[in-house]
Amino acid sequence: MSIAVDRADTRFSLPAWLPRLFIVAGLVAYVGALALAWWAISGRLPEQLTLRLAGHAFAIKHIHDKLLSTGAVVLLILPSAFWIECAVTGWKKCSLRALLAPTKSMKTDIAFFLMEQLHLTGMIGKVLMLGLSIVSGVALRDWLARRTGLAVDPTALPLWLQAIVYFYVYSFFDYWAHRLGHTRWFWPLHRYHHSAEDFCVINGGRIHPAGFAGIFFINIPMPLLGATPEAMIWVNVVTSVLGFLIHSRIESGFGWVGRYVIQSPLHHRLHHKLDMREATGFFGMTPVWDHLFGGWSEASDRNVVVGVDTPYRQGFWVMPDLLRDYWDFWKGLAGCRTLAPSEQITR
Ligand SMILES: [Zn+2]
Ligand SMILES: [Zn+2]
Repeated sequence: MSIAVDRADTRFSLPAWLPRLFIVAGLVAYVGALALAWWAISGRLPEQLTLRLAGHAFAIKHIHDKLLSTGAVVLLILPSAFWIECAVTGWKKCSLRALLAPTKSMKTDIAFFLMEQLHLTGMIGKVLMLGLSIVSGVALRDWLARRTGLAVDPTALPLWLQAIVYFYVYSFFDYWAHRLGHTRWFWPLHRYHHSAEDFCVINGGRIHPAGFAGIFFINIPMPLLGATPEAMIWVNVVTSVLGFLIHSRIESGFGWVGRYVIQSPLHHRLHHKLDMREATGFFGMTPVWDHLFGGWSEASDRNVVVGVDTPYRQGFWVMPDLLRDYWDFWKGLAGCRTLAPSEQITR
């Protein structure tokens, strides 16, 4: 006589939420270690450094701010975005895992991310925009203040309130710059952002360096409306976090938050849809502007295919695609047709 033992009954299984709890605990421990390291290092770092080269003295000022602004994205904001996404989607679906074996489209995203961190995007942008990107809203504000005596001074407000107000100021102008990016004149440049074939956290950095549509809408209004450097840093942090979040693989519309407060990854995925026979929507970092000025509709298809039907080479070497799109932009301005046959732009 033999006795059958049901192995399934005797197997011990972990609760499903436990791995995600470990992921969140990992994030908390990482941020704590980072804060501790910064506390230990910043006390020993001078605020200014003078280097002597070939008899000339070069002063590097505001060292703490410079390290914080460049280190914050690479060491804090991006890892947190990866971590949070992983905690929500699980390791199998997350961007970090996908980036370890990148597709050609993701290789383009990695190239853009590195170019941005090495300040190459800004340098290429200055050349492609014929120097226009150095037009300074701060200089314009000071000039106007001297001429008219009028200046917006928000410093009576606490910094957190300034950051919220200027986020809405920024996102308002970003909304209109984005809509301009979908017109026939600017689409050849904005198209590069839409050319991503796979969504992943770092998609947001895939932006053509010749951002003509955004330059006068984004660089100038904030300082002209009195934004202090501190408020602008916080707006930058919020928009960086949001940029990573909306391109993440979290399949959520965020409920009422995604409907009224900030854009959700689901709505941004719909914005990136490949099939443009129906005009696209969801232009704003906050949906408020889409509700007010057009672009809002109820999200439906979660599995929409993203991309454009213009061919892109993809991969690490981005220059051929970059220059082709730049050339298309000028050709379009000169009245030539640059759109692929089935490609439609927002009407
Ligand atoms: Zn777009
Ligand atoms: Zn996008």
